[in-house]
Amino acid sequence: MNYKYNLAKLQYDKEKIEQLIALQIHHVGQTFPIEMEHTFWLKNLQRARKHIEKSFWLALLSYFIFVLVVIPSDYGIINRSVFAHDFTHCVLSIMNGGLCLLLLFCFAAQPKLQHYFLHASLLIMFWGIVSIAWLIITVQTIELQHQAMAVIAIIYMLSYVISGIKPTYILINGLVAAIATLLLFTLLHVDFDVMVLGRVMAGSCVFGYAIAHMIFARERMIFLYTLRARVSEEIHRIYNSELLHLSQHDALTTISNRRTFDEMMVVFYQQTRADQTALSILFIDIDYFKKYNDFYGHQKGDEVILAIAKAIKSAIRHMDFVARYGGEEFVVLLPATDAHGAYAVASNIYKAIDGLAISHASSLVSNNVTISLGITVYRGEEQISKEELLSIADQALYRAKQLGRNQIYYQSLRNTSVI
Ligand code: GH3
Ligand code: MG
Ligand code: MG
Repeated sequence: MNYKYNLAKLQYDKEKIEQLIALQIHHVGQTFPIEMEHTFWLKNLQRARKHIEKSFWLALLSYFIFVLVVIPSDYGIINRSVFAHDFTHCVLSIMNGGLCLLLLFCFAAQPKLQHYFLHASLLIMFWGIVSIAWLIITVQTIELQHQAMAVIAIIYMLSYVISGIKPTYILINGLVAAIATLLLFTLLHVDFDVMVLGRVMAGSCVFGYAIAHMIFARERMIFLYTLRARVSEEIHRIYNSELLHLSQHDALTTISNRRTFDEMMVVFYQQTRADQTALSILFIDIDYFKKYNDFYGHQKGDEVILAIAKAIKSAIRHMDFVARYGGEEFVVLLPATDAHGAYAVASNIYKAIDGLAISHASSLVSNNVTISLGITVYRGEEQISKEELLSIADQALYRAKQLGRNQIYYQSLRNTSVI
């Protein structure tokens, strides 16, 4: 019952996702409902964090190569008159950049720090922009200033693309960093063309936002497709397991059906032959059940079948197997069980049904519902086929009926005897 509700809920979810996909097609980049939007950004952030964590060595190597290229070229372009000053600033900014990257990796990889990854990324971005801008005003070499501006643009772009943070947050953070830097320069009366730096900062911040918007519009579609695939898979899984369950079990009693019994019988029969142990077979039939239906109605009859199935199940061991063989007939297979063991189990079943004390006013043998039970035991005899074995078990039940019902009858494979 529980998983039927799940199925209905999953189908409802799938329809909702389909609607969202249709909406995304018409309005690219449309935000999701609040909870889903939250999950979407959380997943983006986690994925970005994992990417950063995994690409540590690659980033280290790239940065190392970058340093190898930048240091000699800076050496070449820096003005000789201010060489010591500008070159020191260059080295310091390279170390500052390396430190920022290292911090970012720490927050991406360290379990204790991961929780603060979002805030740390924003702060590192902020610091990266302000510190590089500071380099621009402190060096004299024009080429170095241009290079630093390119680095600022790269920081903006990378923050949008690799951090997995909402573009709006980056936009606000980036603009605040730009305003703070420009304000600082103005307050300190730094002799610098504020307009040029301002345009680089605001330009890359807004341009990066537009790019991020496009990237995340695609990510939204991928997110929805993945979600739909997952929900569909779950629906199929439930359908398949329900179909399998229906094909193997009886709808009324939920115990195994005749089909499963046929399959299990092959397994138990062959196992008994191979191991040369004993397999006991119990055939059970409710006495005067037609009369019961006629007297109490079919609905009440169904309830009795269900109660008896439960009673049988409760009376057998977990290694034993029970199935509804037909209408009001049941079959029980007891592996590694001889006649004495089978009789003990049969008695338990008897007691369990007796304990139910279901009134049967039209029965000719008792005031309550009773059963007849036939037993036969197979010991792996080569000459006896599976079909013969079942027919002998059926004969045992028939004999129990013939002898007056409400009893157990044991039919040996060679001769017949009453217990
Ligand atoms: P006997 O003591 O000889 O077994 O008498 P009986 O009336 O029980 O005879 P039989 O075993 O042939 O009973 C078959 C009856 O079981 C016929 C039908 O009314 C009833 N029956 C079979 N399947 C169902 C079922 O799913 N629900 C209900 N309520 N009755 C069923
Ligand atoms: Mg019957
Ligand atoms: Mg019957």
